[in-house]
Amino acid sequence: MKDTKCKLCGYKTNLFATGKILDKYNIEYYHCENCDFIQTESPYWLEEAYTTPINKYDTGIMIRNLVCVDIAKKVLKKYKNKNILDYAGGYGIFTRMMRDMGFNVYWSDKYCENIIATGCEWNNEKIDAITIFECLEHFVDPIKELEHLFTLTDAILCSTLLFKSNNPQYVDKWWYYAPQTGQHISFYSDKTIKYIAEYFSCKYKIIKATKNLNFILLERRK
Ligand SMILES: [Zn+2]
Repeated sequence: MKDTKCKLCGYKTNLFATGKILDKYNIEYYHCENCDFIQTESPYWLEEAYTTPINKYDTGIMIRNLVCVDIAKKVLKKYKNKNILDYAGGYGIFTRMMRDMGFNVYWSDKYCENIIATGCEWNNEKIDAITIFECLEHFVDPIKELEHLFTLTDAILCSTLLFKSNNPQYVDKWWYYAPQTGQHISFYSDKTIKYIAEYFSCKYKIIKATKNLNFILLERRK
């Protein structure tokens, strides 16, 4: 019996879609009517999915970093003289570019090597804002992950691609399910983001940067 409770709000979910991931496992996707969250069944395949942290299908990496910088420099303007942590910072591309523009950004990543922003590693300096790009969809337990981030800061700028209410129920019809990688397991809509913001007592802003990328700014109410 699969555990089909919503990982965000605890409501019962409904079977939403099925799909084949990593070209071998047939899995199920569940939708929550309360908060609109879509989650895969409990992801037993992750070890296999993460044999390399930045997968070979990620051909948009440089353009995406340019978009992230463009959004971050506007949205996080008031943090320019403060400390920003790029959590799950990958190769350090974003950190380097933001530093070059005068932002005090630190890099951290549990799974990836810092190649571009060496010397900018985070050593537990006090943090005023966190950027975390293309991670929400990888989270096994989004509430727990965000709870941890909110122990470090009151402002989080994150990105993911939000789904619309007519989201395709066939996994091969929406590229963001990314079934060939097995890494995308959590999916959000505007409504889900609203739920998360309320859960953490945040005001929030959704920015539709491109048709393939949304940014979400969550700021705790004082
Ligand atoms: Zn829910």
